[in-house]
Amino acid sequence: MTIKPVLAIAVAACACPVLAGDESPLARPSFQVIDDNTIYANDTLYNSWQALAESGYFDTNQTHCITQPSMQGVQQGPARGSSNDCSFNNTSIEGQYNPSNGLISIPVVVHVIQNTGGTGFISESRVQSQIDVLNEDFQAIAGTNGSNGTDSQFEFFLATEDPSGNPTSGITYSTNNTWFNDSGSYWNTLAWNTNRYLNIYTNSASGALGYVPDLPQGGIVGSNSDRVVVLYSTFGRNAPFVPFHLGRTTTHEVGHYLGLYHTFTGGCASASGCSNNGDRICDTNPESSPTFGCPGSRSSCGLQAPKDNYMDYSDDICMQKFTPNQANRMRCTLEHYRPNLASEGPGGGACSPADLVAPFGSLDFADVSAFLIAFNGGAPQADLALPAGVFDFSDIGAFLTLFGAGCP
Ligand SMILES: [Zn+2]
Repeated sequence: MTIKPVLAIAVAACACPVLAGDESPLARPSFQVIDDNTIYANDTLYNSWQALAESGYFDTNQTHCITQPSMQGVQQGPARGSSNDCSFNNTSIEGQYNPSNGLISIPVVVHVIQNTGGTGFISESRVQSQIDVLNEDFQAIAGTNGSNGTDSQFEFFLATEDPSGNPTSGITYSTNNTWFNDSGSYWNTLAWNTNRYLNIYTNSASGALGYVPDLPQGGIVGSNSDRVVVLYSTFGRNAPFVPFHLGRTTTHEVGHYLGLYHTFTGGCASASGCSNNGDRICDTNPESSPTFGCPGSRSSCGLQAPKDNYMDYSDDICMQKFTPNQANRMRCTLEHYRPNLASEGPGGGACSPADLVAPFGSLDFADVSAFLIAFNGGAPQADLALPAGVFDFSDIGAFLTLFGAGCP
């Protein structure tokens, strides 16, 4: 029996089904992992991840990623400096979202789900290796696989405090066969406050390499179901599922989590309206369909396909970059749709409006550091008395104006 691909992935302004928060994403070909040598995909038994990869299953069924933006939420409007700058239907590139405005630190909790046979287990060191890959890719760190990309000044770290304020490794471990098969609304049990933590789950990911239930523009933020789901065999550096073994599935899904579409969304969309059709990004070429594998060259829509972009479907080794405009849209998305996610974690964070206590503007020292950086070279700095950071009220007003909506 031939089963047609069930996914029309991220079609521009599509009438995609809206995913209710507690639903599994989509009906699709059957997929069940018993162990790493017993994988049932579309009623066929594969005895290794290698065999599954060579079958072309993920290409044929277009299940690299089953993210489908709901397109139900903030659309677009004229106002600048607002959520309209990175709505479902529009990207406006603004200086306030440039990475040069400072490092944004994001606390992560990774929920590792395994079955009762132990399949799905991921060591703490392998979890950390995935965090390392995220930083290499989002910061384009020299000498790493991510060095060819754009430094978006996002930093990820395993949370050191749980939602109750207790010390934590930032990793949870669960053993549950239903959850391992990506069923059972496990997020209602496991989620940490999704306003404050990036919640990543590893399991069999419903037969995809990964997905998010919706872009944050759809209003999912704060609900338990707000999450990134990644196939455990692709998670971490040197994961077992070649050629999806270098951690780029997670990089791709976190791109969605921060508001990005697939590069092939909308096919050969009009280049003249690149900010509000296709992937809503003007410095990625449109493409008629996903890139699979690792072609040396691929023309699509009369242009070179963006096959090296993290938001395409290329093999991990060939995904190498976000573009500057994608970085701008992600930072806009964080500021307007995930305003409480930025943290003062290991790298210091860019800013944290939550620490401000109006009307007197009580600041902690990390905020003062950010304040100094923001005002360095400007007149307000003259009013600061270090090291305690004494401000007069006009400074506080300026600070609130700058930081009130997120990062300056
Ligand atoms: Zn995707």
